[in-house]
Amino acid sequence: MTEMRRFIERMPKAELHVHVEGTLEPELKFDLARRNGIELPYRSVDEMRAAYDFDDLPSFLKMYYEGMGVLETEQDFRDLTTAYLTRAHAQNVIYAEIFFDPQAHTVRGIAYDTVIRGIRAAQEDAEEKLGIRSQLIMCFLRDMSAESAMATLEQSLPYRDWIVGVGLDSDEKGNPPVKFREVFARARDEGFGLTMHCDVDQENSTTHIRQTIRDIGVDRIDHGVNALEDKALCDEIVQRGLALTVCPISNRCITGSLKALEVRRMLEMGMRATVNSDDPAYFLGYINENLVATQEAAGLTREQVVRLAVNAFEASWLPQDEKQALRGRLERYVVSQAIA
Ligand SMILES: [Zn+2]
Repeated sequence: MTEMRRFIERMPKAELHVHVEGTLEPELKFDLARRNGIELPYRSVDEMRAAYDFDDLPSFLKMYYEGMGVLETEQDFRDLTTAYLTRAHAQNVIYAEIFFDPQAHTVRGIAYDTVIRGIRAAQEDAEEKLGIRSQLIMCFLRDMSAESAMATLEQSLPYRDWIVGVGLDSDEKGNPPVKFREVFARARDEGFGLTMHCDVDQENSTTHIRQTIRDIGVDRIDHGVNALEDKALCDEIVQRGLALTVCPISNRCITGSLKALEVRRMLEMGMRATVNSDDPAYFLGYINENLVATQEAAGLTREQVVRLAVNAFEASWLPQDEKQALRGRLERYVVSQAIA
């Protein structure tokens, strides 16, 4: 193992872009299917993984929604979240902001309460037993209506203290940020942090990125790699200090390119890029694999790798004192490695 790889793997990290439903590994999918008496269209884990052959966003989403059909009970959501947090902890993630897609479950007749209670129980458990801190971000499905998103926002209010922010995901084509202007304005009034996916190489990408900034007023941007096509847009992102949650292995699965050089360019331009795993069970890479692949492909220096990690802590939605404490752990690690 190279020294750089070891440095990355042991580094204390924050992950800001991971969909809990996208962490559902085939093994757990089979276990839950068995538990719930659901027949899967695959005979084995290997056969299922072989079907993870995506070439665009819709082909991934089809598999993603099909996969989460095995999640039915509070215990299922708890087991799913525990599995992610255990893996993240093993990769030295000390803080995670986790997306969940309530509408993908409520449309199947699963109660909102079932979903969030299961996830929450796992978060509390992992914090106590493993010391990994996490917060939840509720995503609206952009290919559903704004009315449905608003109803979901209202459903979330009794659990306001369990959710730190809201996001927007699923199929971007024909579903621009401004479709959800009122929903996000209401979310801001309720005190949620705001983020939105601007997926890679989508139609009207820079227009959508500009909308998230100017019409929605997001606090950060998920993906957003195509901003690099527009210098004025990059300048605006830098000036507003907006972080971007880039997911290189996800990019490779969806577009054929890691966009690793783009990550380097962002850093060189002073944009607050971070590296994350997105849907690691489907794209076959957690945060360390993403950081290692990006470092190798773009030839990032150790300072640039540390910058990615610092950016993630700074862009997190933690109270200032906690943010400082976690960043301190990263800084102590970097110093200890410089001496060694
Ligand atoms: Zn995502």
